[in-house]
Amino acid sequence: MTALLKYSWLCLASGMLVQANCQDSFARPVFAAIDKNDDGLRALNREIWENPETAFQEFHAHKVLTDYLEEQGFNVTRNAHGLETSFRAEYSNGGGRTVSFNSEYDALPGIGHACGHNLIAVAGVGAAIGVKEALENHNLKGRVVLLGTPAEEGGGGKIKMLEAGAYDDVDCSLMTHPGNSWYSNYAPSLASWRANVTWTGYGAHAALSPWQGRNALDGFVSAYTMTALYRQQMRPDERIHHVIVDGSGMIPNQIPDYIRAVWGARASTLESRSRLVDQVYDIVEASAKATNTSVDLVPFQDYWNLVPNQALSYQYYHNHMTYFDPTKNNATAGFQNDHPDKEIESGGAAASSDQGNVSWKVPAIQTGFPIGGSAPNHNSGFTELAGTDFAHRQAMISGKTLAMTGIEVLRNETFAKLIWEEWRELVGSQQ
Ligand SMILES: [Zn+2]
Ligand SMILES: [Zn+2]
Repeated sequence: MTALLKYSWLCLASGMLVQANCQDSFARPVFAAIDKNDDGLRALNREIWENPETAFQEFHAHKVLTDYLEEQGFNVTRNAHGLETSFRAEYSNGGGRTVSFNSEYDALPGIGHACGHNLIAVAGVGAAIGVKEALENHNLKGRVVLLGTPAEEGGGGKIKMLEAGAYDDVDCSLMTHPGNSWYSNYAPSLASWRANVTWTGYGAHAALSPWQGRNALDGFVSAYTMTALYRQQMRPDERIHHVIVDGSGMIPNQIPDYIRAVWGARASTLESRSRLVDQVYDIVEASAKATNTSVDLVPFQDYWNLVPNQALSYQYYHNHMTYFDPTKNNATAGFQNDHPDKEIESGGAAASSDQGNVSWKVPAIQTGFPIGGSAPNHNSGFTELAGTDFAHRQAMISGKTLAMTGIEVLRNETFAKLIWEEWRELVGSQQ
C-alpha cells in the first residue's frame, strides 16, 4: 500500500507543476462567484444558526437552503432520497465526471449549533456555486451535485441516503467541518456504534420492603463501573461512553424500576469495534445477572471508519496553501497548519461521522477548519463561535478550497483515476 501511495503522490506532485496555471485560470472566477454571493450565504448561515433543528427535524434549514439553491439556478429535488429533510441540487453541462459535496445542517439537542453544521451547510453551497461557475462559464465539462444530508448527529442521514442510491453516480464526495484547527483529512475517523440499553427492575418501598425490589439503577451503575474498569485495558484508539437518557427514579425511598441509557463504542476499524461491542454485550448482560434485573440492548447507529484518500487530501492541502496559506493571513496565522502527514502522526481525528460510510462507497474526504476561540465541539461556547462573522469567513475559505479540489476531479482525468485506484486498494485491504 505504502509504495503505491508514495508513487501516486509523486505523479500528482509532478503533474501539479504543469497544471498550476490551468488551475489558476479557474480560481479567480470561481472565488469571485462565491464572493459575489457572500451576503446571501452569510444570511443563510445566520438563518440556520438562529433556528437550530435536531436530527430529521431540519425543516426550516431544508426550506431556506433549497429556495436559495433554486434561485442560484440549480436543479433542486426537495425531500430527496426518501428523507423529508434531505435534498439534491445539481448543475450539469452534459458529459464528464460528477463531483459531489455534502451540506449538513442539524443541531444538537439543547445547545444549538454546538458542532457548527450551519457552517458546513454554507461551505457546501459555496463550493457548489464555485464549481457551477466553472461549468457554466469556463468550458469545464461535468456535473456538480450538492447533497443536503440531515441528521449527522446520531441519526445517520447519509446511511439512509446511501441505501437510497444518493452516491451511486458520483465520482467523489467532499465536505468540510468546523473545529479548532485546519486539517485535510488524511487521517481516518473512528467507526462508531450506539445502542439504547434499558434495564427493567421492580419498584418497591426502599425502607419498608427493599427485598421485594429489583434495582434498575444498580443495573446501570454496575455496567458503568465494569466499563470504567475495562477502559484500563482498551487501546488508545478505542472509546466507550454512555449517558442516562431516561430513568423513573424521582424519590429516594422507591427502588428504581426503569433506566434507559445510550451506550457508544468506537474504534479505528470495523473489526476492532466489533470486539469492543462484544465486550459491551458481556458487560450489560453481567450487570443484569448481578442485579436481578432484565436488560434490553438495541443498536441504532453504525458509522464506519473513514477510508482516507491521500490524493484528495493532498490536493485539498495544496489548494489551501496555494490560495489561502494561513501563515500569510494575519487573521488565521495563529492556527495550526499541519501537513496532512502530521495528521497521521498525531493519531488523526477520534470523532466519527456517517461520511465514513460514504467513504466506503466513493473516494471521500471531510476536511476541517478552525473558527477561533478554544471551546471544543459539542460545548456551548462552540455554539457562540459558530455564529460569528469570522467563522463564516473560515467556512468560505474551506468552501473555495473544496470547489478547487472538485474542479481538479472534473478537469484532470489522471487525478480522477488516481483517487479511485487508491480507494480500490484501501477498501479492498479492509474487507
Ligand atoms: Zn458533532
Ligand atoms: Zn459535526
